[in-house]
Amino acid sequence: MRRQHKPDPRKTNGWKRAQLRARVLAAYDVCAICGKPVDKTLKTPHPMSAEVDEIIPVSRGGDPLAWNNVQLTHRCCNQHKSNHSNEWAKREAAGKPTIKQSSMPFKTIGI
Ligand SMILES: [Zn+2]
Repeated sequence: MRRQHKPDPRKTNGWKRAQLRARVLAAYDVCAICGKPVDKTLKTPHPMSAEVDEIIPVSRGGDPLAWNNVQLTHRCCNQHKSNHSNEWAKREAAGKPTIKQSSMPFKTIGI
């Protein structure tokens, strides 16, 4: 995979990201991937703690600061999703067979 020489927008816009995280935590109560409730009192190293996930990963051109590109997930669900698509992660969580690469809902850009 080709490395891009741009700084990580999640780090350079730390306070914006923190604000967005607060909005996501306030707006949602269930994990966008597995559909189960998220206990927002759990702290970060806990696998079931709340995490803000980019629907289109930053590595695929998604905007980590766009409201319509973020969702609430469990830390463990987000880690399992990694750089896969949202649909892939949902299918995984539901125990269904994975979809083919060719039916991914987004184009890969310069990878
Ligand atoms: Zn989950």
